[in-house]
Amino acid sequence: MTEPRNLMQGATGDWEVVIGLEVHAQVSSKAKLFSGASATYGAGPNENVSLVDAAFPGMLPVINRYCVEQAVRTGLGLNARINLWSRFDRKNYFYPDLPQGYQISQYKDPIVGEGEIEVELDDGEIIPIGIERLHLEQDAGKSIHDLGPKESHVDLNRSGVALMEIVSKPDMRSSDEAAAYFSKLRTIVRYLGTCDGNMEEGSMRADVNVSVCRAGNYAKFRESGDFSFLGTRTETKNVNSIRYVKQVVEYEARRQIEVLEADGEIDQETRLFNVATGETRTMRSKEDAHDYRYFPDPDLLPLELDPAWVENIRSGLPELPDAKRKRFVADFGLSQYDASVLAADRGKADYFEAVANGRDGKLAANWVTTELFGALNKQGLEIDASPIGAPALGKLIDLIADGTISGRIAKDVFAIMLEEGGDPEKIVADKGLKQVSDTGAIEKAIDEIMAANPKQVAQVKEKPKTLGWFVGQVMKATGGKANPAVVNKILKEKLGIA
Ligand code: ADP
Ligand code: MG
Repeated sequence: MTEPRNLMQGATGDWEVVIGLEVHAQVSSKAKLFSGASATYGAGPNENVSLVDAAFPGMLPVINRYCVEQAVRTGLGLNARINLWSRFDRKNYFYPDLPQGYQISQYKDPIVGEGEIEVELDDGEIIPIGIERLHLEQDAGKSIHDLGPKESHVDLNRSGVALMEIVSKPDMRSSDEAAAYFSKLRTIVRYLGTCDGNMEEGSMRADVNVSVCRAGNYAKFRESGDFSFLGTRTETKNVNSIRYVKQVVEYEARRQIEVLEADGEIDQETRLFNVATGETRTMRSKEDAHDYRYFPDPDLLPLELDPAWVENIRSGLPELPDAKRKRFVADFGLSQYDASVLAADRGKADYFEAVANGRDGKLAANWVTTELFGALNKQGLEIDASPIGAPALGKLIDLIADGTISGRIAKDVFAIMLEEGGDPEKIVADKGLKQVSDTGAIEKAIDEIMAANPKQVAQVKEKPKTLGWFVGQVMKATGGKANPAVVNKILKEKLGIA
């Protein structure tokens, strides 16, 4: 895994790209991290602000047990070490929309340590990506400068809301890998119910660290752990979509290669992404950890977790997407790709399983991923708003499996179910769509077609491939209801071809 991957060509030779992500995920919780104020999105300005959030004199933070539980749950979902002893530190930095004047975060002793997740790439390859740590911290509020020419406003609703910062190892090696990792993290936290993953609302955003080095140097870094084999990184802040993460990596890698090839240097700096142009630009030169004057927050005790409590959370974890994907491959015979698509979303996975249980898994996967997801996409619907429920789709598949209708007719029935709802069995009965397997009726249709088309009959003996034309004619004559297997068999017999 440390061979040079995804090399980028420069004018002076090949380069490797190295990426590490710091993802901020807002904890799904009713209340904030250290106060009882509501953490829900969409309230009017400053409606969700307690005296603690406003940093009134004498106010003290009190840790929200549920947020801690959510962080532990996420750590377990990332296959990471849970630190039974952790603590909160003050990060001294003037955030204009965080009234305390510092951020309560975790520095040397985060609640979650190293872990690893599996990430699927588009070509089906699965790669491991290391997690460095996960820590809890407060979010800041929002400053608004464009309501009037002479004043600025501040909305503290978000101030004090719990965030999990999930820091990856520098294990990603291309824009696709970074995008796939970000997407996988989102899937995991959604499965766990620890973050809603809603990027438009800012619930999940990534700081994208990118560097480039000469081909071969990454392997030396992996062998030695010595970061000096890697290039200097830039960090592009608050990237809030999977597509943008990809763009940032591509733009930064290209830019850095150009700078280095022109004998320039990369500054370790913080950059901003411009959504309109797809470019990044300097925001500020990067400060080092010691600039923040971290120190343990004297208002909070160290956080000590009871191992039994952690185990209790572990035993309550849902089946996670990787386990589900593997089970779908093993139990239902699905391809890695179909299994990944289905396991990527808990709602979709549950739907599929309800359809597939006791049926042909591959057939079920086909109907769910191709027909149903296609239709839902067209209508902009999520799986839980599907007009066709899993039991009804299951019944439709049963009708195909037992030969009552052909796959062709099933698509018509599906379209009716989508438009008008209803029970597939009843639709088939009402519309007279039952498949004709009765050889007498099929033979009669074939005889008529052969009699009316002597030229084609002569041709098919020379070119057996033209048999499809006859099949089409028979289907037409029977309104698509003839059983295709039976049609093929009888046609071959009558035409005398193998
Ligand atoms: P900071 O808070 O200073 O940004 P962190 O340790 O929180 O530091 O995060 C650093 C992130 O940058 C991690 O995801 C890490 O994997 C990544 N990283 C470190 N060095 C490099 C590098 N040379 N190239 C790309 N990514 C890097
Ligand atoms: Mg950072």
